[in-house]
Amino acid sequence: MKNVPELFGSMVFNQSVMKERLPKETFKALKKTLDDGEPLKIDVANVVAHAMKEWAIEKGATHYTHWFQPLTGITAEKHDSFINPQDDGTVIMSFSGKELVKGEPDASSFPSGGHRATFEARGYTVWDPTSYPFIKEHTLCIPTAFCSYTGEALDKKTPLLRSMEALDFQAKRILKLFGKTVSHVATTVGPEQEYFIVDHDLWAQRKDLRMTGRTLFGAKPPKGQEMDDQYFAALNPRIVKYMEDLNDTLWKYGILSKTEHNEVAPAQHEMAPIFSTTNLAVDQNQLTMEVMKKVAKRHGLECLLHEKPFAGLNGSGKHNNWSMSTNAGENLLEPGKTPESNAQFLLFLTAILKAVDENQDLLRISVASAGNDHRLGANEAPPAIISVYLGDELFKVLESIKDGTPYAAEKKEKMTIGADVLPPIPKDSTDRNRTSPFAFTGNKFEFRSCGSALSIATPNTTLDAIVADVLKTFADELEKASDFESALNSLIAREVKAHWRIVFNGNGYDESWKTEAHKRGLLELKTTPDAVAHYLDEKNVRLFTELGVYTKEEMEAHYEIKLEKYSQMLNIEVNTMVEMIYKDILPASYKYIGKVSKTVMDLKAVVPSASGYAQGVVLAKLDSLTESLSKKTDELAKVHAEAENAGDAMAVAKAYADKVIPVMEEARKIADEIEPLLGEEYKPFPSYEDLLFKV
Ligand code: ADP
Ligand code: MG
Repeated sequence: MKNVPELFGSMVFNQSVMKERLPKETFKALKKTLDDGEPLKIDVANVVAHAMKEWAIEKGATHYTHWFQPLTGITAEKHDSFINPQDDGTVIMSFSGKELVKGEPDASSFPSGGHRATFEARGYTVWDPTSYPFIKEHTLCIPTAFCSYTGEALDKKTPLLRSMEALDFQAKRILKLFGKTVSHVATTVGPEQEYFIVDHDLWAQRKDLRMTGRTLFGAKPPKGQEMDDQYFAALNPRIVKYMEDLNDTLWKYGILSKTEHNEVAPAQHEMAPIFSTTNLAVDQNQLTMEVMKKVAKRHGLECLLHEKPFAGLNGSGKHNNWSMSTNAGENLLEPGKTPESNAQFLLFLTAILKAVDENQDLLRISVASAGNDHRLGANEAPPAIISVYLGDELFKVLESIKDGTPYAAEKKEKMTIGADVLPPIPKDSTDRNRTSPFAFTGNKFEFRSCGSALSIATPNTTLDAIVADVLKTFADELEKASDFESALNSLIAREVKAHWRIVFNGNGYDESWKTEAHKRGLLELKTTPDAVAHYLDEKNVRLFTELGVYTKEEMEAHYEIKLEKYSQMLNIEVNTMVEMIYKDILPASYKYIGKVSKTVMDLKAVVPSASGYAQGVVLAKLDSLTESLSKKTDELAKVHAEAENAGDAMAVAKAYADKVIPVMEEARKIADEIEPLLGEEYKPFPSYEDLLFKV
């Protein structure tokens, strides 16, 4: 039996290792940096670096890297070895404080949305001591933030840290009003990660999976997920081995992998870690995705993180469980037991309602990508409309506050907060609503629109920032009030009323919700360009710049990068599609047509009266479909060229969304009609059935 506690975190330079390995004084100084954000002095850094290197070498490391998260959405690393040449031709292994705290990778090849031109071509990385260094494959990885020389963030971590700071500051102001002084409020995140596993050899035979991460073609298999026999089903032995290895590896990296199960679609699974501080959760989720892919390869498997690898089946998301908690361990979204603590809870809850309602666009933008566009609004995924689910009990509580009516039938009093009338809020007894994009689940919110392949840095930066922004206006108002209790009452009632439209407890998958949402004036931003078009709205620039989360220049860069990435992805998809049509699908059809035609001729040579009816039917169908596919491919090439030349980044992205995607879908439909007509040995590539059921 393996010893999990011993395995856990064995590759992490965590606080327990620090305490054991660092001189007392150094550990104390480093703790001050960790806990209170005090800058790290270079002599302290030197001692830490030395201890870290010694530890890393003992664990077999030869290199170190500043591990960072550029705007590509994945992580980047450049490895340097510890070797340091000596005069006598030998080397020693060294690592200085300077090398630990700061690095200078060449930044010019990372996306910068054009804003690098105005700054230096070089960026630098700085150690984020709040996220622990770890050893991955002989390399000591140091989590860092990545900035330009003028301080512009070139990564996803810097803004996340800024947003957490903003929320910390504003939440403490609110808590002070309730007579609480805490040193720190942090947001917490537990990201549930969905993924598909397919066989490596089958995967390798599909250009679309290799190039784009999803299937661009594929007829529906005879069996899909309609039997609901996959969810939580017993795991097949190959998957069991995979998950064991995955867990061991994640545990070594100190990742609290907790839950694993089969998901709804065949070949789909989920891993949920125990939640942690947002910034650590984001780093660890990036690492988790990398590990999932690598471990799969070790087992002759492939892990698909795309949001919609298979048409007609559920896509994969990442449920971002989110809350706020104080350093004293109080979860601010835990409904309290006393009226006073409920007042505080309701104020935070109201802030979230207001933040989500006012910033539906920003939340939608934060999860926008070519991949996730396929998922939002499709099978079992939250719609592209943002709304909030509260559960029955909380719904009733807020409704009575809003309307000034009694909460429970037996209660005569009007609902007031902070006074002794408000009863404890009972735990919700109803089923959880799985169809809501933003659901309250007892003591946290679950933001379910995040795509499985996306970094959760931006969704969380957005969440923290929009909530901080509202808490700021609440604190401004309440700090001025002469009678706190009555000011609190009227603020909550007023804001709940003003933002009631965002609350929706019904079925988010239902078509009627769309009509209802439009009536309520909620946004439905279907595609990435539709969403990103709102990014630079005055409201959004004000929000982010006032809080110091993004600068205007950074936002302009994000705008360009989001659109460019979207169009680049679609460009690759179209190119792949056309290649597969000409190199795989049409040749397979011709081969089969040739074979069947020859059968008829051979048959007639022997039996002149033979009808050849069945062959004729297939041949006629294939002839007609190949003709349609050929014509459709020409049309696709035409709209593709037009899109590439449509103008600025927004025009190109819009052309892809509105003109190219529909033609891609039409081409796929024709190809998917050809596939089932071909004999088994003639199929152009592994089918859905192969991919989904042969693991
Ligand atoms: P499910 O939503 O599948 O029923 P749980 O409610 O147990 O599962 O939790 C789902 C995820 O939410 C887990 O990753 C868990 O660690 C995380 N979670 C629980 N409490 C919090 C919290 N206060 N803040 C952030 N995430 C949390
Ligand atoms: Mg969940």
